[in-house]
Amino acid sequence: MPLGEFQLIDRFFRACGADRDDVRLGVGDDGALLRTPPGDDLVAVSDTLVEGVHFPQGSDPRSIGHRSLAVNLSDIAAMGGVPRWALLSLTLPSVDPAWLSAFASGFGDLAIEHGVALVGGDTTRGPLTLGVQVLGSVAAGKGLRRSGARPGDALFVSGRPGEAAAGLASLMARGLADLPAAERRVLEARFLYPQPRVALGQALLPLASACIDISDGLVGDLAKLAAASGCAALLEVDALPRLSALDAVASRPYALHGGDDYELLFTVPQARAAAVMALPDVTRIGEMRAGSGVTLLEGGRTSAAAHAGFDHFAG
Ligand SMILES: [Mg+2]
Repeated sequence: MPLGEFQLIDRFFRACGADRDDVRLGVGDDGALLRTPPGDDLVAVSDTLVEGVHFPQGSDPRSIGHRSLAVNLSDIAAMGGVPRWALLSLTLPSVDPAWLSAFASGFGDLAIEHGVALVGGDTTRGPLTLGVQVLGSVAAGKGLRRSGARPGDALFVSGRPGEAAAGLASLMARGLADLPAAERRVLEARFLYPQPRVALGQALLPLASACIDISDGLVGDLAKLAAASGCAALLEVDALPRLSALDAVASRPYALHGGDDYELLFTVPQARAAAVMALPDVTRIGEMRAGSGVTLLEGGRTSAAAHAGFDHFAG
């Protein structure tokens, strides 16, 4: 490589600098020295994106930069945490300054928006792969978990799950070709530039009994939450928010099984459900029951949900 790893990081990521009180030492030494707020728990998350697996080959590098951080911020959001620091491991087939600059602006703009300092990194040569770790904090013992739901709790979701998968289908020319281009662009942006629900996660700390972010599809991630909590879930399909530009029939498979939404799926004891209804952009979509598994309630009839997640690249 013509550039050393720290030169690369320094040159393209200066905007996410670490000149702040919670960073004693940032990029440039063998490790970063960080200060967690006294009395808080550290929240640590990690996610890797591989070209051709997690995003199509030839994707816009600005979107890749945004998504590589967004998926990690979404995991911090699902814990109710405050994101603070990020580490980035870049595996690149070659050093292309224009690609790196666009990648860095996508990563950096989102980092600045959420107050995240890039405090370390590593570069290697190989197939395009982005490994990101984000560290954050949450009041000791208060972090949200998947395991706290109880029978009778109300089930909520943020945003309109399924839009990212519909957008990816459009990007891959695997559907929605009859939609007007402007409406396809809206859906495609939901895949390319997901907005992690960090503020909502923090607002849920005193309200939610369990929380998970939707990365693998609503039904699949609901099954994980229900299993972790030792409960069953009843999902009211007719209550799901309809996708922009799609009718209920076209929305259904994306809403139930689409992935990559990075919305929050969470449960709330009935006594606190009214407080959650006052939060912006959340919809009540069912409730937890005794038992196990996910049941769909649709047109007054119930059926067991298939757990298959959405396969991005399946023909
Ligand atoms: Mg997650």
